[in-house]
Amino acid sequence: MTVSKALAELPYVREEIGFHDRAEAMLPDFMERIYRTSPFYREKLDQAGIVSTNVRTLEDLAQVPFTTKAELRHGYPLGLMAVPEAEVVRIHSSSGTTGKPIIVPYTQEDVNIWADMMARSLAMAGVTRKDRVQVTPGYGLWTAGTGFQAGVERLGAMAIPTGPGNTEKQLEMMLDLGTTVLIGTSSYGLLLAEEIQKRGIREKLKLRLGIFGSERWGEKMRQRIEDILQIESFDIYGLTEIYGPGIGIDCSEHEGIHFWSDHLLFEIIDPTTGRTLSPGEEGELVITTLTKEGMPLLRYRTHDITRLHLQPCRCGSPYPRIDRILGRTDDMIKIKGVNIYPGQIDHVLRMTDGASSEYKIVLTRHQGKDTLLLKVEGETGANREEVAHACQHNIKSRIGILVDVEVVTFGSLPRSEKKSRRVFDEREE
Ligand code: ZN
Repeated sequence: MTVSKALAELPYVREEIGFHDRAEAMLPDFMERIYRTSPFYREKLDQAGIVSTNVRTLEDLAQVPFTTKAELRHGYPLGLMAVPEAEVVRIHSSSGTTGKPIIVPYTQEDVNIWADMMARSLAMAGVTRKDRVQVTPGYGLWTAGTGFQAGVERLGAMAIPTGPGNTEKQLEMMLDLGTTVLIGTSSYGLLLAEEIQKRGIREKLKLRLGIFGSERWGEKMRQRIEDILQIESFDIYGLTEIYGPGIGIDCSEHEGIHFWSDHLLFEIIDPTTGRTLSPGEEGELVITTLTKEGMPLLRYRTHDITRLHLQPCRCGSPYPRIDRILGRTDDMIKIKGVNIYPGQIDHVLRMTDGASSEYKIVLTRHQGKDTLLLKVEGETGANREEVAHACQHNIKSRIGILVDVEVVTFGSLPRSEKKSRRVFDEREE
């Protein structure tokens, strides 16, 4: 089924709305509402000397201060709530691995819109009412499990809510229920794929699609999961502070992630100067939540590095796109005066024969001199020395710095059920 046909089958998908200028057109109403309902933003805008009713275009918006994660933390637990508590039907929370978590309140309308966006994402990936969808992300305070579940139900497919972990049970469900769609983090997708390969049970499975998200993952990792499982996979985007997963997904063209611009306004900024960048330029993604009620956000800095694309996609969808996430501004490695994103390393590995998708970066400093060691898994049977040499050469020519490369045995770097940590900075401050 074509994407537009799948989308057209959803009565609540308003195809005519979705272009970037429509998002801009929604801005005045949003500014009026956020000033009226959010004590946090009323104070913030007043302090910045911004008159909310004067913010009517993207150009006006560029003058408005950003919202940061630190402000959200500072507002813990419900300081950014913008509706009377009686209207809040649910909260979710970020993991809070560093400091206090962020609590996000949702109204019934927020929950509905999120389920719509998720159903739209699933439809774009080709999921239909006839699919059986295994949802392996975590449930509970985290947004992922619940978010996927609601979208699967909204679409009318069958959710199999296994949650994370317990590989035995996952495979049993997959076999016995004939799961057709697997949802998870890409690391967990790879872990399951390798286990399926090891047991030689692929032929007994009915898997046809994979939807992976919640961490940046390279083309090579996606390719590997697709090759082992013989499925098509899709990259779903989202973050807890906005709704959760499902605010965008790539289509079958796999040339960037479509996002739902009838609910969200995306801008790209220079992460250092804060200047707004043009479509096509690489920078940090900043999101304004045009229709969110419980905790609306104005110019929220995501720290995700990408580019905005407004030209039409070959799939025919009217929704604009961003590139798949290249990295995070906080993952940016500064070494020898060069800024490197892990996304660039993925890119180099993709073009290097014999190198797998799995790697780790170790930064050390010795006598004031920085060294980057790339540990990468070689494909089985590859000549390690040749692969190391090719990696080194490709990084030098593509990124412009000389690094040390060590090729390790395939499967020796840790796989994770959640997010794989790849950069280890052991330099002392
Ligand atoms: Zn497309």
